[in-house]
Amino acid sequence: MKNDATPIELDHIGIAVHSLEESLRFYVELIGLPVKASETVESERVNVAMLPAGTAVNAPRIELLEPADDESVISRFLEKHGPGLHHIALRVENLSEIAQRLENAGARLLNEPRPGAGGHTYIFVHPSSAGGVLLELIQK
Ligand code: ZN
Repeated sequence: MKNDATPIELDHIGIAVHSLEESLRFYVELIGLPVKASETVESERVNVAMLPAGTAVNAPRIELLEPADDESVISRFLEKHGPGLHHIALRVENLSEIAQRLENAGARLLNEPRPGAGGHTYIFVHPSSAGGVLLELIQK
């Protein structure tokens, strides 16, 4: 069992939705979560809203993902699975080291570490390597 001294925290849970507007009505107006940020990630063709669940600066967030167009990875996901849990994201402090370790162990990484929303670096690990859930690892 690998036991790093560096902390790993839940950063966000990504949920694929057909409509941000409709989902914000549920999560913000009915549930009561605040909206911290919304943006379009051009490289992924996704409109994103971040809803912190907690008051700490690093509180985990719900990330609502709406396809910006038909070419979006999210529109492909919605076609295949319908709306629902898309990925979970863990925040780490040594992404390149972990990516290397995963690669050495034969885990299926979907990309090399690259910059994403908010300027942090991330990789995605295929669900087949991560218990059936798409796993994002990010470093700020
Ligand atoms: Zn994410």
